[in-house]
Amino acid sequence: MPSPSYWERETFFKDLDVVILGSGIVGLSAAIRLKELEPRLNVTVVERGALPLGASTRNAGFACFGSASELLDDLETQPEAAVFELVERRFRGLENLKRLLGAGKIRYEHLGGYELFRTGEKARFEACAGALSRFNAQLKGITGLSETYQILDPADTGFGFADVRGVIFNRGEGQLHTGRMVDALLEKARAAGVRVITGLLIQAFHAGPDRITFETADGWTFESRMMLLAANGFAARLMPELAVRPARNQVLVTKPVPGLKFKGSFHYDRGYYYFRDIDGRVLLGGGRCLDIEGETTDQFGTTDRISNALTGLLQEMILPGTPFEIDTWWSGIMGMGDEKKPIIRKLAPNLAAAVRFGGMGVAIGTLAGAEAAEMLLDAAISPL
Ligand SMILES: Cc1cc2nc3c(=O)[nH]c(=O)nc-3n(C[C@H](O)[C@H](O)[C@H](O)COP(=O)(O)OP(=O)(O)OC[C@H]3O[C@@H](n4cnc5c(N)ncnc54)[C@H](O)[C@@H]3O)c2cc1C
Repeated sequence: MPSPSYWERETFFKDLDVVILGSGIVGLSAAIRLKELEPRLNVTVVERGALPLGASTRNAGFACFGSASELLDDLETQPEAAVFELVERRFRGLENLKRLLGAGKIRYEHLGGYELFRTGEKARFEACAGALSRFNAQLKGITGLSETYQILDPADTGFGFADVRGVIFNRGEGQLHTGRMVDALLEKARAAGVRVITGLLIQAFHAGPDRITFETADGWTFESRMMLLAANGFAARLMPELAVRPARNQVLVTKPVPGLKFKGSFHYDRGYYYFRDIDGRVLLGGGRCLDIEGETTDQFGTTDRISNALTGLLQEMILPGTPFEIDTWWSGIMGMGDEKKPIIRKLAPNLAAAVRFGGMGVAIGTLAGAEAAEMLLDAAISPL
């Protein structure tokens, strides 16, 4: 890559107030909020990919805020108040996402979310079923629904799944079109005067008291007054002290399946597998539990082990007896940690980070980005 020209330097890399590293849902939401708060700020988002290249355009598009088994698992490791606080944040975050971008624009469909239990999961199903009245009481103040969760008889659903013995329906959830969501965010950010520079891999940055200096993989350098790190699963490459681990997720989408019998979003095996309908096709992802170590990587790719498991699940459980063809495989990289809570912190007077969004960044990403933007402009700091 040649060095930047005088014109490039003067136009794109001069007098930068805030550089946001990462153009996923969090980075773009932060940029939009910064321009709302301080319209005159020069806000630039830098992105290594031609498009965002992490999780935001590679996820499943579930607008979900917690399945019954997820809540039960979380209650084993976290105080009750923290668990329901996060559920509320996810619910409010989804409301915010729809308000910010328009439900129609992101193809939001309020079809509900389902959790499925197979034969071997009788004990888990019974534990979840036993907790539903308590969860419904807790969630009433959040969703406004008297019964957020409801047990359904698998035989009544007409979904045609094989070996599904228990179904819990969450009537507060929905699904959206992930690509449209990021496109709408990019459009909104640009309309607000945010510059998005793609194809720029930041290799390192140095935070001084007044300036942040960036080094790109091509040997360019530039500076800004402030910076927000919104690199999620890749954050530890730039700041190893952040407790973020990458977690790859493999996903497939089938070709259209004539007469597809279900609509909505589905979780199975504590959320390790998830699938939904999209344009008459099935999108299915997950299986990370089969090789946690191997999937703790920020390298994109698919493996035989997981793709065979996903294909097997389609054949045996989701589309039994229905011929299907797989159209596309891809993978996305999440940011995870020992704690489920994301890291949204101001680390120095001119540096903040908003990373580690696990499997809930669609839900909380716009609120988290806005929160990080507000922190960056606020004087208070909260280092790690
Ligand atoms: C397969 C999959 C399914 C998921 N399903 C759901 C779901 O249904 N519902 C839900 O709520 N959440 C889901 N998630 C999680 C959700 O997608 C993420 O939490 C969210 O997208 C995180 O957004 P982000 O902006 O923090 O990160 P990202 O979208 O990963 O953005 C980070 C960006 O930083 C860029 N970057 C990183 N390092 C550098 C660098 N050095 N220089 C320049 N650019 C850099 C990357 O290219 C990337 O575009 C899923 C995730 C995956 C992978």
